[in-house]
Amino acid sequence: MANTKHVFAFEDGDGKNKHLLGGKGANLCEMTQIGLSVPPGFVISTAACLDYLAASTLPTGLMDDVQAQMRALEQKTGKGFGDSDNPLLVSVRSGSAMSMPGMMDTILNLGLNAETLQGVICATGDARFGYDAYRRFIQLFGKVALGVPDAAFDKEFDAIKEAAHAKQDVDLSANDLKEVSERFLAVVQNVTGHPFPSDPYQQLEIAIKAVFNSWGGKRAVDYRRQFHITPDMANGTAVNVVTMVFGNRGDDSATGVAFTRNPATGENKLYGEYLVNAQGEDVVAGIRTPKPLDRLKVEMPEMADQLDALRDKLESHYHEVQDFEFTIERGQLYCLQTRNGKMNTVAMVRTSVEMEREGLITKEQALLRIAPDSLEQMLFPRLDPTIKAEAVAQGLPASPGAASGIAVFDADRAEQYGREQGRKVILVREETKPEDIHGFFASEGILTSRGGKTSHAAVVARGMGKPCVAGAEGISVDVNRREARVGLTSFKEGDVITLDGTSGKVYLGAIPTVEPDFTPELNVLLGWADERARLKVMANADTPDDARRARSYGAVGIGLARTERMFNDVERLPIVIEMIVADTPEQRQAALDKLLPLQRRDFRELFEVMSPNPVTIRLLDPPIHEFLPDEHVLERELSELRALAQNARGVTVLAGAMGLLHASESVRHDIDIARRMIDPAVVEDAIGKKEAMLKKVRALYETNPMLGHRGVRLGITFPEIYQMQVRAILEAAAECAKAGIQVKPQIKVPQVCTAEELRKVKTFVDDIHAEVAERYGKPVSFKFGTMIEVVRACMRAESLAEEAEFFSFGTNDLTQATFSFSREDAENKFLPLYNQSGILQDNPFDVLDVKGVGKLMQLAVEWGRSVKPDLHVGICGEHGGHPASIEFCHKANLDYVSCSGPRVPVARLAAAHAALKAGNK
Ligand code: ADP
Ligand code: MG
Ligand code: MG
Repeated sequence: MANTKHVFAFEDGDGKNKHLLGGKGANLCEMTQIGLSVPPGFVISTAACLDYLAASTLPTGLMDDVQAQMRALEQKTGKGFGDSDNPLLVSVRSGSAMSMPGMMDTILNLGLNAETLQGVICATGDARFGYDAYRRFIQLFGKVALGVPDAAFDKEFDAIKEAAHAKQDVDLSANDLKEVSERFLAVVQNVTGHPFPSDPYQQLEIAIKAVFNSWGGKRAVDYRRQFHITPDMANGTAVNVVTMVFGNRGDDSATGVAFTRNPATGENKLYGEYLVNAQGEDVVAGIRTPKPLDRLKVEMPEMADQLDALRDKLESHYHEVQDFEFTIERGQLYCLQTRNGKMNTVAMVRTSVEMEREGLITKEQALLRIAPDSLEQMLFPRLDPTIKAEAVAQGLPASPGAASGIAVFDADRAEQYGREQGRKVILVREETKPEDIHGFFASEGILTSRGGKTSHAAVVARGMGKPCVAGAEGISVDVNRREARVGLTSFKEGDVITLDGTSGKVYLGAIPTVEPDFTPELNVLLGWADERARLKVMANADTPDDARRARSYGAVGIGLARTERMFNDVERLPIVIEMIVADTPEQRQAALDKLLPLQRRDFRELFEVMSPNPVTIRLLDPPIHEFLPDEHVLERELSELRALAQNARGVTVLAGAMGLLHASESVRHDIDIARRMIDPAVVEDAIGKKEAMLKKVRALYETNPMLGHRGVRLGITFPEIYQMQVRAILEAAAECAKAGIQVKPQIKVPQVCTAEELRKVKTFVDDIHAEVAERYGKPVSFKFGTMIEVVRACMRAESLAEEAEFFSFGTNDLTQATFSFSREDAENKFLPLYNQSGILQDNPFDVLDVKGVGKLMQLAVEWGRSVKPDLHVGICGEHGGHPASIEFCHKANLDYVSCSGPRVPVARLAAAHAALKAGNK
């Protein structure tokens, strides 16, 4: 250990070894070595820090090495550390592999004492500058290295300022500052019980130890725990000792910070701020208002040119946008730090495309530097980030995007205000039901006080691409009074509120939003992604609008169209209910005959929007009682109707008794109207209908509907439903073909567990196909396949593959089935605890469980392809839009992923990442 090298001159340190030298130190070495103007200095390694913390004493020989380095600095600068004629001053800066709060603040001007101060004053001929530097050093060193509270210094400083009648620090004279530094020295003596260390080497050693100690400080430790920063990401902090350069040497000196490109827009133009005659942190501290860098061209044109040259060198070396610090000392430019610039997504995308065009990076690098998830930001309006507002409630970020509008508490009024009056509306409900759907269409956003990310509101809003905040429990909704209470305040129908479905926050009043920016650069970048990806990206889309949007985001087909959404349409629902409550096959057929043309139109529209890409239509999946009203609602309605029947009979009797009463003409008239309005026969009829429906609801009742009478089970017991749908699909395709529109229909059967189910469905599909072919004079081609969402289906993949031309993994249901967890219960009851206590690493409904569910998928793919090598396989569960799951799908040799429209760009980039990463291994 004794001869491990712990101290590295900037000329020698390995600029790539951030782990050993810290980010700041490694970059200072690298910049020095590529010939940039960096003040001479050296780095003490993170390994020395760990040694020191373990042994509570500096590694043997460390201070000797430091002395040797200091002598080298003296050589390079021609100054002496502690030399009273021409003193060398340094800064001592912390820096680990990852930046984190809690690390020691930089100490500037180390090496000053009563003697060296005179040297500085002599050399600069500026007493004020000398005392100002001295008092700053005493306070900063006192605070960060010796632990003297700022308040003790501030008290003295303010006293002197008052005595000197100075409004600002700059109004203080050299003499004032001299007195400040004397008083500061006394403060240190009083608080610490020791005189301020005047020996420069002693100062240096104390400062080095203070930097090392800050690694083990509470704030830094907490931060690392909170953000899961493990030792292999960052272990220990390095110390950088850097020759001081002075931006505060007069009007030919300055200090500043800059980005090589604009971090908000990505524009290829130097962006930043500077201050003339200032030191270090003055720019960020906000004591004086810094100037934009454009001004430098006017104030110091020569320096502006040098800065441009520095910017080019940084980018051409790092091949990445840099965020850097510079100081100008009497016409000489120094670079004091550089790191990769943090930017918003719009800027990331633009710089990727432009840097590729400039030859700075390859297309692969352009793709890999952008996190796929971040692209979603570019598709939705967001709250104007310059507006500061206090949220009144926090719910789940259930569907991204931001919207403002008047609060409305039921779907009908939402439609009335939104559709008819053209006002912007936010639908506020405790929770939503399928019958609220028309309110969704009329609203800008949806807010619920109950329910999770998979609640009806969340799922439907996501499908429609509307912002939704779900489960905002702080809000209590009173539908009858058309009012919602939030803490001490409330809002009523007509009051404006704002939602941010990306963060889950709710605000009172209108907050301006910024429109999404699907920029031309994003299209270019995604084009590159498509060239590299093997996985194709399709969309889950139920309506032509969804499909159109998905297509504009680059979906190459629909991987999942859910027909139940079409059934829920306001005009359809009554027909669907008629079909369900039908007593005889004839009655059922009559209802289905009404549905057929409607569905045919649905499918035709989808085919047209997506032509010539495939459209995969899933036959009806949910249990049919989901389309019927709630049992309790029906019971209540029935009892009200029965009461009304009595009244109606009473009115009839009354009308009949008119002759006996000597009522006036107008009373007779009123009673007659009443009699006609509530005709007992009509009421009886209504009662009959409701009773039949209630009977049906009770008959269809299931203990566990998700495992009950749904999917293909429904298709087998009520074949006429699936037959109607298949006919609608094939007829729509035939109509399109006739009109010269290319279509690729795919029929997908849900919930299959045995090949026999598929064979049954296939039989009538073939019959209908033949019939349609004959009627239209030409057969339409289509594909027939199955969802894989049942464990048994995975196990029987070989035999399913004999019937199916494609497999489509429904990983939501497959995850429920694999874990035997019901999603809603799991997420609301025990999953959070499972995640917190580490029993499960992730929520398997968010992050595909590769080890379990993934294993089943791999087996199914392998077995399926063993029978049918060209079996087309994809995923259509929510996981299909998540980058980690997409990477798995790539490895598992799937052909496509299908996800909600707004995830399509994310998935395209993630698919490219997956391919590139697999290729790089
Ligand atoms: P941070 O990590 O907080 O940015 P730095 O170590 O970069 O801390 O330094 C704080 C400020 O001091 C920055 O403005 C930096 O440019 C300046 N600074 C650091 N070292 C020197 C030096 N040797 N000469 C002049 N200014 C310096
Ligand atoms: Mg810095
Ligand atoms: Mg399913």
